[in-house]
Amino acid sequence: MTSLPFNSVEDRLYVLRTRWERYVADGRFEQFIEFAVAVNSLAEHFNRLRLPGLVRLCEGLENAVLARLGEQSMHPLAEQDILLLQRQLDTLLGSVTTSRAPVPARRTEEREPSTQEIDWVKPRSVWIVSASEKQGLADGLSRQLQFFGFQVCLMPWSGSPPQTDPPLAVLFIPASAAALPDELRCIETLRAACPASQLFYLGVESIIDPIVALMRAGIDVAIPADEQPSMVLNRILDLVQTHEQEKYRVLVVEDSRVAVALIQRTLAEHGIDSRAISDPCTMLEVLEAYRPDLILMDMYMPRFNGVEATRVLRQMSAYQAIPIVYLSGESEIGMQVEALRLGGDQFLIKPFNPVLLAAVVKTKIERFRETQRSSRLDGLTGLLNHTAAKARLKVMVSMAAQSVERHITVAMIDIDHFKSINDTYGHPVGDQVIRGLAWLLKARLRSTDLIGRYGGEEFLLALPEVDPALARSVIDRIRADFAALPHAHPGGALYATFSAGISVYPDIDAAASLTEAADSALLNAKSLGRNRVEHVMV
Ligand code: GH3
Ligand code: MG
Ligand code: MG
Ligand code: MG
Repeated sequence: MTSLPFNSVEDRLYVLRTRWERYVADGRFEQFIEFAVAVNSLAEHFNRLRLPGLVRLCEGLENAVLARLGEQSMHPLAEQDILLLQRQLDTLLGSVTTSRAPVPARRTEEREPSTQEIDWVKPRSVWIVSASEKQGLADGLSRQLQFFGFQVCLMPWSGSPPQTDPPLAVLFIPASAAALPDELRCIETLRAACPASQLFYLGVESIIDPIVALMRAGIDVAIPADEQPSMVLNRILDLVQTHEQEKYRVLVVEDSRVAVALIQRTLAEHGIDSRAISDPCTMLEVLEAYRPDLILMDMYMPRFNGVEATRVLRQMSAYQAIPIVYLSGESEIGMQVEALRLGGDQFLIKPFNPVLLAAVVKTKIERFRETQRSSRLDGLTGLLNHTAAKARLKVMVSMAAQSVERHITVAMIDIDHFKSINDTYGHPVGDQVIRGLAWLLKARLRSTDLIGRYGGEEFLLALPEVDPALARSVIDRIRADFAALPHAHPGGALYATFSAGISVYPDIDAAASLTEAADSALLNAKSLGRNRVEHVMV
């Protein structure tokens, strides 16, 4: 099963298909422009998701479209042009479909999964194509990947790929650093069969010619022979995260229902999730629960206006950085300058141009998420840092208070005898053990779970909307698997364990008390002998 985030891809495909159908039906030049914009948006999206095979197909279509965009008098296009574009579009749609995991139909997707259906150990797959001389390296990587929850399929260069869904990644391990013509052909075949997979080639020499040949055959990442296998692992896990990135969220503060409908339709067409409120009085609660990446703010509303609402937000540390874009019929320039001076990021005039609105929103959100990353995430592991993890837990608790399924299982984890790992093997090896645990947690938990690096070798977890007994058994399973995970050091491999303490909301109903309770359960686990999970006494 690949892990394409098919909600947003599917939204874009839908837009693309309907715009094409509309153009075919009435042949208007404006419709063709709309179609061109949709092709471009899909290409950009695949690019963001790092799906080079699909980007290439999209760009092929984009070039064909651009060649016919020059002149209005060319439209409606001649029948053979339509057929040609149709074929390219079909190829593209077909490739996306074959690289798709069997996802449920869109309508049923909103249904909450029941606890039993939650896929705790996510079956992401990786194929390793290896020369027999390098079987040792292939086996080692395969074992490590399996520890992190991947399904691995090993095959020789001459073998044919399995008749299953394309994998998340394919690793090619050649016999020697120079790629042979047969190997390039094998890469080309797999590239065509798996357009959405990431292709890695391990063991290239730092010479530009062969790397270019590999890239032309379809390799995405060529890794030099002397780089650690752990780097490959790191890249694959990074990739998983990018693919499972959350949808962009926009809060629309706007009192006109017509404007709200138009805005939300435009955002949805671009795969952006949104929520609308008509009264800025409810803004703070909604902000906390919904955690938008951007606010689209109307200028004129009852009670207070957009500029005043923005000024209030800018007083609060949590919302000092969130992008705020004003949407207003206001065309007076002095007013716009004033609005920006008082804390807005951009001013868009209603009626808005949908393409411009979507472009502004996406660009602002991309930048916002990037800066958020560096201030909220821990550098060593990429997990939420201490402050961000605490803040996130607080929000989770306040949201649980308002929902039906109210359980949150909180866990505090601490690696056992970590000082002696540092003392025996050195700090860098200690760091790698910390990273190993972070990867294991990322690989095993859901995207909705909180995973934070709380301190040096301490981690905070919060698993919402799952039966506490199941959550505990998941954590205990991770504990057992971590204990069996080999960590490489110059003299061989070492093994480490962790202890965990657990507390449960709503047995305890404040974020700070939950972490305190989990901490005392952790102490208990330590005193009972370590390498165990203990629940707090209530
Ligand atoms: P216990 O089983 O009781 O937890 O024993 P411990 O040795 O793990 O004790 P403790 O949790 O107090 O020790 C944490 C050690 O982790 C102390 C510190 O030197 C080390 N440490 C903290 N942050 C880092 C880090 O980022 N990298 C490395 N390599 N070591 C770290
Ligand atoms: Mg208004
Ligand atoms: Mg500690
Ligand atoms: Mg410790």
